[in-house]
Amino acid sequence: MADVYTPATVGKHPCPECGGDLQWNAARQSLVCPYCGTVVPWSKGQEADPGTGVVEQDLQAALKDPATGRGWGDGDARREVKCQSCQAISVFVDGKVAKRCDFCGSPSIIEHASSNDAITPQSVLPFKISDGQVRDRIRQWYGSRWFAPNRLKSAALTDTLHGVYLPYWTFDAQVSARWQADAGHYYYETESFRNANGQTQTRQVQRVRWVPAAGSLNHLFDDELVPGTAGVHAKLLRQVEPFPTRTDLKAYSPEFVRGWTVERYQIDLHKAEKINQQAMGQQMQALCGRQVPGDTFRNLQVDAQYQGRTFKHILVPVWLVSYTYGARNFQVVANGYTGAIAGEQPYSWVKITFAVLAVLLLILVAAMLSQ
Ligand SMILES: [Zn+2]
Ligand SMILES: [Zn+2]
Repeated sequence: MADVYTPATVGKHPCPECGGDLQWNAARQSLVCPYCGTVVPWSKGQEADPGTGVVEQDLQAALKDPATGRGWGDGDARREVKCQSCQAISVFVDGKVAKRCDFCGSPSIIEHASSNDAITPQSVLPFKISDGQVRDRIRQWYGSRWFAPNRLKSAALTDTLHGVYLPYWTFDAQVSARWQADAGHYYYETESFRNANGQTQTRQVQRVRWVPAAGSLNHLFDDELVPGTAGVHAKLLRQVEPFPTRTDLKAYSPEFVRGWTVERYQIDLHKAEKINQQAMGQQMQALCGRQVPGDTFRNLQVDAQYQGRTFKHILVPVWLVSYTYGARNFQVVANGYTGAIAGEQPYSWVKITFAVLAVLLLILVAAMLSQ
């Protein structure tokens, strides 16, 4: 059985050479000292409580009794700011606070009092795609956008690139369901009809024979993801998922997030749980529907029991470019682990107009030649 949150301190790993605070380096996949350059490979032994970091938490217990969290491991060094424009709340673990919002570029950010009952992340998927790799990918991505205005393709665009850890909830559940439905079997009958000339003809008509059916099934939901972010546009996030949370999570440690922006969740556990419950309900309907025999079905009723519901609060890495064009804010998002990219772009009406004119001209020339 999973535990309720128990506040625990997260261990600190100072640089063995100079005692400075180590930081996660995506390109080297190691901890690196920003002061003397010492590289320290990450090992399981560095986890705060080895073996207990990536643990599922009991959902019912946590909903009843919102925990105090286990602390971010850096004491007073942590600051939170809220963007007045897009409402994203950013957490800075190393004291260096950005002048502009990482999510929308707005300079109107204000200090945000961190609430005590906030659930702090238990595990983190550290960055794997480095700063240099993602710049190349984003340039390629822009190169493939035909109708983007030219000045967006300039190198300056990637100067607004930020690495951000986003809050996610993951949910597990064991479901046993019983279903009943009317299973429909197709059969064909020959029917005669009169055609337009008044002659009698025959045709095949599809009919359905309805037969009651019932069954049961068990299903295990493992790490169903619900984003807790307010800063990144949801549509883009869907396109760069999945994050390999089942296999590659590491126990939270301040080394991973030091020097990066962390977004604090705004979809809280209650809201996330409802989103997850609805998503699981829809999936169970679909899974049971697939079990109904025959060619089609109607009146499907599913009675599902959810047991052993657990959750985790995790951080996942994304690279984010945010820019304003005209009056609108556009984002380009890259998965910091898999490198998958999705983005929004303004369209250049000049380019589109010329493209349309060119096509019209071709049609005109073809028409003249064929005469
Ligand atoms: Zn050092
Ligand atoms: Zn913002």
